[in-house]
Amino acid sequence: TAKDAGKNTYQFFEEHMNRAAQEHLSMQLELRRALQENELHVYYQPVVDLRQGRTIGLEALVRWRHPEKGELLPGAFIPFAEKFGLIAQIDQWVLAAVCRQWRDWQAQLPPGFWVAVNLSAASLKNHGLVDEIAEVLYSHGVPASAIVIELTESQLMENARDVLGLLQGLRELGLRLSIDDFGTGYSSLAYLRQFHVDALKIDRSFVHDLGSHDAAAIVSTIVAMARNLKLRVIAEGVETPAQLEVLRGLACDCIQGFLYAAPLPPAAVPAQLHAVLVPPGDAAPDPGAPP
Ligand code: C2E
Ligand code: MG
Ligand code: MG
Ligand code: MG
Repeated sequence: TAKDAGKNTYQFFEEHMNRAAQEHLSMQLELRRALQENELHVYYQPVVDLRQGRTIGLEALVRWRHPEKGELLPGAFIPFAEKFGLIAQIDQWVLAAVCRQWRDWQAQLPPGFWVAVNLSAASLKNHGLVDEIAEVLYSHGVPASAIVIELTESQLMENARDVLGLLQGLRELGLRLSIDDFGTGYSSLAYLRQFHVDALKIDRSFVHDLGSHDAAAIVSTIVAMARNLKLRVIAEGVETPAQLEVLRGLACDCIQGFLYAAPLPPAAVPAQLHAVLVPPGDAAPDPGAPP
């Protein structure tokens, strides 16, 4: 019968589908379920201003609390979400979650406090993005100035012509823009100026290698150029006191990293808001540092 034929066809596929393809399919179904069943969560990593020695903002980082596999980091599912066309939906979900959270924390937040959200390249291709973001902010009563949008250097490079208008729309809303993973895309700051961003995040690979003369020279140059362009500089992935001291010597504005705080569940954030965890310093440039 047709029913048996269908069953046989199914068995044929089942037997011949390789393991990778099956995992691929189940990952896609599971990701859709994750979005529907609220299995995604947002963690928040403090960004510390070295002059004030305290948290001035947070980066929102998505996590997937998988019912069988436990807590998954973005690296384990974002590449799939990109492949299945689900990443823009995840970005939107994260922004809405951040807005709800911001309302909860609002009374405790220091003035000027912000939360940074990562956007994927797919989100940048959505022509309705500016309106959608405006709607989410408005419906939650969150001022645009409380949100920073992070875009990686390579996203900007690959989509330069298409994103200029979109970024202008975001800035007109009052959002601030930040270039993530800076230094990995080999673009010049002069070129990136056209995007009118407010901050640069130095990729953690340079921070990791700060002990080497070359990496220190690159970081020193990035900090100096950013200062001339009046951009805030955030060093990512600061793990050791030695790295912190080099960054202080270079008068880097802000740090983010495990040394200070890992990404935290929302309940752990309020305790970090007013704590002074890095001794305040004037972050004056080291007189011995190259100009
Ligand atoms: P990113 O935006 O560069 O975020 C910083 C990553 O560095 C985070 O990894 C953070 O946990 C990690 N990190 C922070 N401090 C340290 C440190 O001291 N040492 C080391 N080794 N790592 C540190 P995470 O949370 O696994 O996120 C990885 C990437 O996933 C992010 O890189 C971002 O590109 C992407 N991502 C995260 N959330 C979202 C999201 O909501 N939407 C999109 N489109 N991408 C996201
Ligand atoms: Mg980021
Ligand atoms: Mg980064
Ligand atoms: Mg990254």
